[in-house]
Amino acid sequence: MSNTPNYSKILEKEIQGLEESGTVPRLLLHSCCAPCSSYVLEYLREYFNITVFYYNPNITAGEEYAYRLAEEKRLIEAYNRQVETQDFEGMNSTQRARKIEILEAPYDPENYLEAVKGYEDCPEGGDRCGICFEMRLRKTAQAALEGGYDCFTTTLTISPLKNAARLNEIGERVGAEYGIPFLPSDFKKKNGYKRSIELSREFDLYRQNFCGCAFSKRDAQSRQ
Ligand code: SF4
Repeated sequence: MSNTPNYSKILEKEIQGLEESGTVPRLLLHSCCAPCSSYVLEYLREYFNITVFYYNPNITAGEEYAYRLAEEKRLIEAYNRQVETQDFEGMNSTQRARKIEILEAPYDPENYLEAVKGYEDCPEGGDRCGICFEMRLRKTAQAALEGGYDCFTTTLTISPLKNAARLNEIGERVGAEYGIPFLPSDFKKKNGYKRSIELSREFDLYRQNFCGCAFSKRDAQSRQ
């Protein structure tokens, strides 16, 4: 039997506790792109006041970065319109859903490239990704502290290619360092990944075929 905690269940329990206490915390949610955040936002917007934090220095080119950011904003606008019009037809959310805000961090790809120097040939899921996760989660924790948020987390656990245990371990460690609780998750569970594909279709979101960095793009191209 695996000793890995069931992060999806842990999150469910946390949400149950919030419902019982009637608390609605302010959550800073790191997002890598609109498709990955689609399900996470649909799921969490009833229980948290969410600000999406867009910090992704790993994304290889300025145009790709700007396109993913524009799609993220378009999705948030669509979700916020649903809240204004109370039109949740076909959605999992109910009328308790709240509006979502977005906070953009500066795009600093040079810092990412410096951090992963020597790890360029790692396969996706290897040590380069650990560095990349930590860089993004650290910045999110820092921004959460500065902005007076109650907790932070990331959409990254929705990807079947990303190790949820590793992400949660980094999030918890970084959160402890900054004194900001990390919300555990494994968003791919409970059909979360499948739902993100449905939502991407529904909102006609751009779904890139590589993770983000130039190395993942190179690997995707060679697979093709
Ligand atoms: S493959 Fe994805 S997670 Fe891994 S280093 Fe590249 S951008 Fe980061």
